[in-house]
Amino acid sequence: MDNSFLYQSVAYLKGVGPTKASLLKSELNIISVYDLLNHFPLRHLDKSTVSTIASINENTEYIQIMATVKDINLIGGKYAKRLVVRIQDNTRSMELTWFQSINWTIERIKTGQQLLIFGKVSFYNNRPTIAHPEFELFDPNQLNNLQLEPIYPSTEKLKQRGINGRQIAQLTKQIFTKLNENDIAETIPNYIISKENLLGLFAAYKNIHFPQNEELYEKAKLRLKFEELFIGQFNLAHLRFIRNNQSKGFAFLTVGNYFNNFYENHLPFTLTNAQKKVFKEIRKNTSGGSQMNRLLQGDVGSGKTIVALLTMLLALDNGYQTCFMAPTEILANQHFETIQKLTKSMGILTVLLTGNTTAKNKKIITKGLAEGTIQWVIGTHSLIEDKIIYKNLGLAIIDEQHKFGVEQRSKLYKKASLPPHILAMTATPIPRTLAMTEFGDLDISVIDELPPGRNPVLTMHKFENARHHLYNFIKEEISKGRQIFYVYPIIDESEKLTFENLNKGYEYIKSYFPEPQYLISVAHGKLTKEMKESNMARFVEGKTQILVATTVIEVGVNIPNASVMVIESAERFGLSQLHQLRGRVGRGSEKSYCILLTSNHISQDAQQRMRIMTETNDGFIIAEKDLELRGPGDLEGTRQSGALHFKIANLIEDKEILLKAKKYANYIFEKDPQLQYVENKVLIAQLNINKQPIIWGKIS
Ligand code: ADP
Ligand code: MG
Repeated sequence: MDNSFLYQSVAYLKGVGPTKASLLKSELNIISVYDLLNHFPLRHLDKSTVSTIASINENTEYIQIMATVKDINLIGGKYAKRLVVRIQDNTRSMELTWFQSINWTIERIKTGQQLLIFGKVSFYNNRPTIAHPEFELFDPNQLNNLQLEPIYPSTEKLKQRGINGRQIAQLTKQIFTKLNENDIAETIPNYIISKENLLGLFAAYKNIHFPQNEELYEKAKLRLKFEELFIGQFNLAHLRFIRNNQSKGFAFLTVGNYFNNFYENHLPFTLTNAQKKVFKEIRKNTSGGSQMNRLLQGDVGSGKTIVALLTMLLALDNGYQTCFMAPTEILANQHFETIQKLTKSMGILTVLLTGNTTAKNKKIITKGLAEGTIQWVIGTHSLIEDKIIYKNLGLAIIDEQHKFGVEQRSKLYKKASLPPHILAMTATPIPRTLAMTEFGDLDISVIDELPPGRNPVLTMHKFENARHHLYNFIKEEISKGRQIFYVYPIIDESEKLTFENLNKGYEYIKSYFPEPQYLISVAHGKLTKEMKESNMARFVEGKTQILVATTVIEVGVNIPNASVMVIESAERFGLSQLHQLRGRVGRGSEKSYCILLTSNHISQDAQQRMRIMTETNDGFIIAEKDLELRGPGDLEGTRQSGALHFKIANLIEDKEILLKAKKYANYIFEKDPQLQYVENKVLIAQLNINKQPIIWGKIS
């Protein structure tokens, strides 16, 4: 048989047909035999051994026995009928019980028959019984054929139409009667298989569905997980290889006057070692003539902006413009001011371009960018509008990159003759495993060290009945001249109830902090954009002492004078979000506090989150925990692309396998990037770019 069988529609399998085939497609995305082969069992029923009745004890769950039917009794009246069948093996006797399908069963069981029986043991008056067991006439040949029986995931709809988890097993069984070892081509080079002691691919498929024993099942799982992670990493390594070696980019060859002047005369502090390390990575990455596509991760306050600025100076020294894009007006403003302040005497023309820029100024800026008289532009989405044309854009900085989509990034690519170097920054740390799989096509730099002299934020978890204490504490802080963030969760702005919470909370806070002694700003999504921004601006400028807000303040704003972050209903936030919010304080030299207020009774899960928050300030640890608690699909800052939907691998459990897979993938592109070695030839078929859409049905 040639392996085109694998790519046939499941409709050709016995017992499927067109209706069921289309259900399998719509419910489980199973179209071909190959898809079915990749639909792995949830668990197995252990039918690999036959036990004795005497061996049953209170710990027995499922059991398979071989026994002779002794007698058959129909018990009870017209309505409460029950069928009891007494069986005996060579150790003891016991009863089997049916409450349903009685007529059907009676027709099939006769005294004196030898049966192979499987089912779940329960105890009735201290005696074991099996209710509704599976049974079949015993055939001595069966003893050579005992297996673990797979149970597959199915859906309600499929079950209604007669395709439950066990019926799917009938289909996979059928597949293996028609397949042999040669039908499934090996995908991984032999040297890896033997070094890692992996099962061959056919054996792995066979044993994931029909394992001969537990150990082989585990080996099959390992092989398929390795396979999945390795092929993924292999393709990502390939993408990186192409970008780093074949894609063309601007070469920033010189470190010139702008950079040196700044570094020697204007740098306001000594760089941390982490900042130096990262800048070296950038320098290397931008000098070789290929395009940089780098994700810079660093916890809130770790000092990413200065790294961006150094890179901008490097671009300038090499004659290129830079655009710096931030997700909000306020952030764009802040970056503009910071950068202006640091470089003001250096004769660099820097402008701010946002939605608020007047038409007249916009015109001037547009012209300056096109003619190259403006060197740096900082702004919001306005920077990538179609009518903005750059003379020679060489670098694009993207702040809080998770707020931007791929589409926006690709718009940037088109703003120059070659794609500009991209430095995307994020303060949402991404766990290493996730970064490797989700962002594996980017190069990643990490600032894993905070500037010296930071006062770590003190985080406390309080129950809401302590609110009055808290208010007194807030008054003390305000009397010292500090400012307060006060955050309410509005998960969905249209959610009426939580919205009322914020309004009520605001009234309540106002009654405690009356004007004119205290001034409060409010910011939430129901205000107009202008209102929201002007309220926030008043707080940023220090005109108000308390900002009552929703998570609109989550991203990036820097208000060094704010020393307290109060989060109401903190149990409703995820870890990463709490950490982001906390990052809004602790930016100045003052002692800062983050207070997590929750209701008096919260779930264990929420308690755990509060504990993690009070125990650590390390964004990477928090991100790892978040991944563990919530799973990757929900993690903030991820692209939520298909890359996360692993068939069998699991980013939390299979970290070690992932690391190994990555190591091999990198090794291959280091030694044999063209895949010319005989032993690497099998990999050519695994390159995504070579992949034909194998299964035509998926397109229709
Ligand atoms: P983030 O990584 O969150 O964007 P910023 O770049 O805004 O952080 O930096 C946070 C603060 O730390 C800024 O006020 C900045 O001036 C300061 N900072 C950055 N690097 C250093 C350093 N090496 N030494 C001292 N202060 C620093
Ligand atoms: Mg920042």
